[in-house]
This record gives sequence, C-alpha cells and structure tokens, in this order.
Amino acid sequence: MSMTENAAEDVDLLIIGAGPAGMAAAIEACELGIDTLVVDEKFHPGGQIYAGLAGGAAFDRSVLGRDYLIGKNLIDRFQACGARTRYGAFVWDMTPDNTAYISTDGTSRMIRAHHAIVATGALERPFAFEGWTLPGVITAGGAQLLLKTSAVVPQEPVVLAGSGPLLLLLATQYIACGVSVAAILDTTPAGNRLGALRHFARFIPTALAAKGLAMLWKLRAGGVPILSGVEDIAALGSARVEAVRYRRGGEEYRLPASCLIVHQGIESETRLLRAVNVEHRWDNVSRSWLPVCDDFGRTAIPGVSVAGDGRAVLGAQAAPLSGRLAAIDAARALGRIDVETRDRLTRPVRAQLGKASRGRGFVDTLFAPSPTSCDRLPGEALACRCEEVTAKRVREEATRSAANINSVKSRLRCGMGPCQGRYCETTVRELLLRHSGSTAAEIGLLRIRPPIKPVGIEEIIALGVTELPPEARIPGVLPR
Ligand SMILES: Cc1cc2nc3c(=O)[nH]c(=O)nc-3n(C[C@H](O)[C@H](O)[C@H](O)COP(=O)(O)OP(=O)(O)OC[C@H]3O[C@@H](n4cnc5c(N)ncnc54)[C@H](O)[C@@H]3O)c2cc1C
Repeated sequence: MSMTENAAEDVDLLIIGAGPAGMAAAIEACELGIDTLVVDEKFHPGGQIYAGLAGGAAFDRSVLGRDYLIGKNLIDRFQACGARTRYGAFVWDMTPDNTAYISTDGTSRMIRAHHAIVATGALERPFAFEGWTLPGVITAGGAQLLLKTSAVVPQEPVVLAGSGPLLLLLATQYIACGVSVAAILDTTPAGNRLGALRHFARFIPTALAAKGLAMLWKLRAGGVPILSGVEDIAALGSARVEAVRYRRGGEEYRLPASCLIVHQGIESETRLLRAVNVEHRWDNVSRSWLPVCDDFGRTAIPGVSVAGDGRAVLGAQAAPLSGRLAAIDAARALGRIDVETRDRLTRPVRAQLGKASRGRGFVDTLFAPSPTSCDRLPGEALACRCEEVTAKRVREEATRSAANINSVKSRLRCGMGPCQGRYCETTVRELLLRHSGSTAAEIGLLRIRPPIKPVGIEEIIALGVTELPPEARIPGVLPR
C-alpha cells in the first residue's frame, strides 16, 4: 500500500541547488550515467555568484567582472548535460528516508531519492544593529542580486558597512556601473589582522590574494574611502534611512545615506541537513555550525551528501570541485562504480580542491566574526524581526535559565516566524554565548520544524498522507 494518495516520484540522484556545486555535481553524475534531478528555488541555474547569467535582465554584464562572466561556461555545460531540472522548486522538508518535499507553483510533491546531494550554498550572516530594520537598509547579497538579475542600483548617497570580501566586490561592481560609493565603513575587528598574519605567507601566492589586491586598487582608483576601525553602526531616519552614525577612534560621526548596504560574511545553509539529523560541529573561526561529513561530502545519514558552501564556505572555485567529489562518491554508493574507480576519479579533483582552498585561512581569519559583535547592540534593537523580539529580552532570558536556543525559542518565539531562524538564529546565539556563560554546544542549534520556509497549509493537506509507517510523521504538522 502506498504511503500517500499522491505517490512519491522516485529518482536515483536528487541534487538540491543549481549553484556551482550542484551544477558540477549534475554534470559529473550524468557522465557516470546516473538518472539525475536538480531542483532549485530560483528560476534559473547559477546560484548566488552566477545569478542572472542565465535569464536575468539585459544589460552590459561585463561590469560584474570576469569571475562572474566565466560562470557562463559552467551553466552551458550543465544545461547540456542531460540532468532533469525543476526551477522555482523549493525543498521545504527532507526526511531521513531521503524523501524531499518540494513546492512549485503552489503545489507540493514528494520526491524519494536513492541518494541526495544537498548543495544549498550559504546565507549572509544576520547583522543586527540600531535601525537595521529601516527601509533603505539592505544586505550586500540582496543588493548584488538586484544588480545581477534586474540591473537595479541603489539611490545615492550609498554607504557600505561591515566586513568581508563581498562588500569590497560589490563596491567595485557599483563603481563599474557608475554608482558613487560615499564610503565603506569597515568593522573588521583590529585583532583579526594580527591573527590573519600567520596565514599571510600561504595566502600571498594565491589567486585569492591577486583578486583582493585588484579590488583594493579599483576602490582606491575610484576614490572610495575605506574607513577601518569602525564600531557602533546605526541607521538613522524616521520612515527610511537618512543617515548612518558610527564611531571611529573614540569619535562619533554621521554620513548622509539613502541606502545603507551591510554585510557580515556568509555562513553555510544547513537546514535541510539538520532536518535529516546530520550531525553538526561548532567551528570557532566562522562561529557557525558545520555539517560533519567525510572528504567526499558524505554524511553519516545513508544516502545524504553535502557539497559547496553548504559543507563549508570555501568559495566559488572550490564549490564545483566539492560537487564533483560528492557526485562521484554517489555513483559508488548507487553501485555504478567500485571504490577503486571512485578513488581514481576523485584523486585529481581532491588535489584541485586542496589548491582552490589555499589561502582561505587568511581570508577566514581576517573576516572572522567577532565574539563581541552583539555587545553594543542596544537593548531595544530587534534580534528577531519576524516575532519582534528585542536584544534586551534575549539577554534577560540568557541570564535567567539554562541557555539552550530551543528553550529560548519556546519562551520568546524567536525562530518561529516566517524566516524560521534564518535572520535571527546567529544573533540570538551570539547574545546567549555572551550573556549566559554557556558554550556553543550547550546552546545548540535551532531544531528544524518543517516547512523551513512558509508553504500554504492546503499544499500540505493536498499531499494526501493517508497511512504512516510507525516512525514517520505528517510533514510540517507533527513534531519530529
Ligand atoms: C548572497 C551571496 C552572494 C555571493 N556573491 C558572490 C560573488 O559575487 N562572488 C563570489 O566569488 N562569491 C560570491 N558568493 C559566494 C559564492 O556564492 C559561493 O562561494 C559559491 O557560489 C557557492 O556555490 P554553491 O553551489 O555551494 O552555492 P550557491 O551558489 O549559493 O547555490 C545554492 C543554490 O541552492 C538553492 N537553494 C538553497 N536552498 C534551497 C532549497 N531549500 N530548495 C531549493 N533550492 C535551494 C539556491 O537557490 C541556490 O541557487 C556569494 C555568496 C552569497 C551567500
């Protein structure tokens, strides 16, 4: 008897995410003769870095730089590789038997995969500060997506604030578009520079270093002031942002701004992996939880692998390589190749991945988030914007009881809103770490309650679950 009225579709290999990792995994899998389905919530392949290259607005994309344009080759090879694709398809839950619940055009379907590669990339770290929810404040990733897909640039004066390579890259792209950047307010902690120095010798001969220097040169030539040592950013304005206030060298300053673009690095998006109970480990440099997997990206959950930035943020060069490793290993798991063939095929890819990851130590340490990043967050600032939970309430909760993020969620509701923790989990965790005296392991990760993004209840009902095996649950309704 079937478990549901709408039987699940079967597929050998399901790849979630059509970014560089997912596309490269699909090409490799198809070459090995595996029936492959790739799903992505976006309407075109490319992921974050190559967004808009396949199907965005028409404009002169050379302003976005060479690293962007070379993505066309990967997209073309992916589109010709023979993998089946489904776009505008959001995976809102996965169960440990490798069933994915996918919403497309208001209808949900189940896909049961013999093997799944989760290549869901990374998310920007939330950046909470006074006034961060004012209209006109946008993240660098969001601003860049508007540029890449819709040729939209912000209204001047534009101020960029925060830390990380994406902020610098976006500023160079704006210069190339003729947008004037009033200033980059660099909040990178001074101590990070010292820490990064010990990785300098390995970093300097890499392509990453050349790119970094080229960006700094372009910003200098474009006359963009980069103000280091900035603290206490605040967006000021009544109906929308009108100015930015910040402190530097003990003095307070203000800059007029129509748009404040903020960024504080990116972190692996692992919610689907958490949904299937993949173990995670705390990484003290990125101050984030990373999935535990082997060199091929295989997790301890049978038939579940991870690739790309979702495995660890290693950048756009490394992502396709980890995608290929996961696909070759999936072919072994599916019985298409033996272990020796897998090892022979993956040896050169592993060597390339090692090379592509060289220099990351410098970048990761230089732009590492500070453990004190939330110390100056005013009590009335929102930590969780969906449920309007202030920093003060989280701090009070931290000192009141054993600080586990899930008990704080039950009491304050942060993480229960439409974003399901995407925009608050990191901020809440940092506040708890500072004010409770608990360790990251004690605080833990938010438990995943499907759907991980809102879907209509009628979609869930229409799945028609009629009969459940003892260990199963109705998706999105019963607790895991
Ligand atoms: C906002 C942002 C902007 C970036 N911009 C740049 C840049 O300009 N230059 C650069 O060098 N690096 C950039 N990076 C880093 C770069 O994107 C990565 O190093 C690289 O693209 C990672 O590739 P990936 O395939 O792992 O993930 P991604 O490229 O992020 O692709 C992941 C894909 O998975 C899809 N997805 C996620 N969750 C689901 C789900 N539940 N259901 C269905 N689909 C899902 C997403 O829509 C996305 O297309 C950026 C990262 C971020 C987060």
